[in-house]
Amino acid sequence: MIVMKFGGAALKNSERVKNVGKIVKQHIKYNPIVVLSAVGDVTDLLLEMGVKASHGTIDNKFFTEIHEKMCDELNIDFSNFNSLIEDLNKTLFDVKKVGILTPEKRDVLLSFGEKFSVKIVSTYLEKIGLKSRAYDSWEIGIITDSSHGNAKILDETYENIKKFFEKNFTPFSKIPVIPGFIAKSFNGEITTLGRGGSDLTASVIGAALKCEEIQTWKDVDGILSADPSVITNTKVIKHLSYKEAHELAFFGAKILHPHSMIPSGKKNIPIHVKNFLSPNSTGTIISSKTDEKGEGLKALTCRKDITLVNIESPEMIGKYGFLAQIFTIFKNLKISVDLIATSEASISLTLDNTINIEELVKRLSNFSDVKIKRKMAIVSLIGIHYNSPTILGKIFYVFHKEKINIEMISQGASKVNIAFVIDEKYADRAIKEIHKYLFEEKIPLEVIM
Ligand code: ASP
Repeated sequence: MIVMKFGGAALKNSERVKNVGKIVKQHIKYNPIVVLSAVGDVTDLLLEMGVKASHGTIDNKFFTEIHEKMCDELNIDFSNFNSLIEDLNKTLFDVKKVGILTPEKRDVLLSFGEKFSVKIVSTYLEKIGLKSRAYDSWEIGIITDSSHGNAKILDETYENIKKFFEKNFTPFSKIPVIPGFIAKSFNGEITTLGRGGSDLTASVIGAALKCEEIQTWKDVDGILSADPSVITNTKVIKHLSYKEAHELAFFGAKILHPHSMIPSGKKNIPIHVKNFLSPNSTGTIISSKTDEKGEGLKALTCRKDITLVNIESPEMIGKYGFLAQIFTIFKNLKISVDLIATSEASISLTLDNTINIEELVKRLSNFSDVKIKRKMAIVSLIGIHYNSPTILGKIFYVFHKEKINIEMISQGASKVNIAFVIDEKYADRAIKEIHKYLFEEKIPLEVIM
């Protein structure tokens, strides 16, 4: 059994849906389970519709047009969608009535994107001679907590999915087409798993059923060594460990949901990132296989709009419990910390949002000197740095040559990532140059210097 996940770009128009049908057909012997995002940019559109409704305007015209056109072109009767359209309108009217798009209502609204896409694709698969059925994700047993907008999948989900498939599926029965991203909480409310969450749904299903592979189909040849919108000479990464992929997603590569590697990683199910525009290219495999020496350096990422917090206090020297005191404040204010570097008398750390920051500064200032720097960027190198003196030498050379100050350095314990915090305005320049020296031109350090 395999999971095949197709994102919005793979479903952007009727031609793309036909292409998805072709790819699924080619994989029929592996017993595919299809997981889908909403069509194209429909999730963004639904968000806009929700905001408009909260300001008093109901407008579902574009949403309806997109799906109706697609159905017409695929020869699917759009009247099958009447009750879904009615439900969508009801949700929009509810939002208009209360004048606010609450997190609960937002999740209900966003769920219509995936509800439409699974119905369209499953009907189309039937049209091309494949047996198929669309399911709701809660029907197959996906259950979450009630943190709307970023819900956590509960452990019982895995057993639920397993039981559901054992009961309802024999190999080569109907292809299940399942919405990614959306779920229901234990109290029956619709929830969503965070943007890009259909990768996570695919990973959870793959792990629950111990599938041979989870394929995620994108519009690029695999995971690239850097963001192609900044760097032209990127390379496709052939293989990543789960840890590397996790760091990569967390530190800015938009290729996979940052948590989607966790369920599959725990069960050792490979994730195969493939290109739906060129299905025969090899793509990127994420698995537990560790790389041999020489394949260590994988990617360069950049995450912007970071806040750097520098905390200094002579009281730290030789004392115990000081760090606990600091992090209790973060805990109480529910602020998540990303990178940390400490010395005997100071700590630097980064945050990716600034909610509660005034209160944080106030509380920390009671016993330390606090400085905040906004608009920072984390430039991060992913991969095991077997050759680290040379690699680091080249990176420092770039910062020196470009006259860019480094505000903080952090290397995680897993040693698959080293991160540099710099002013956001220099970030693109820095990654272009670092990519050139580390991924494009293999010039020895001695020659560069
Ligand atoms: N449709 C959702 C989004 O746009 C989920 C996904 O695409 O994975 O974020």
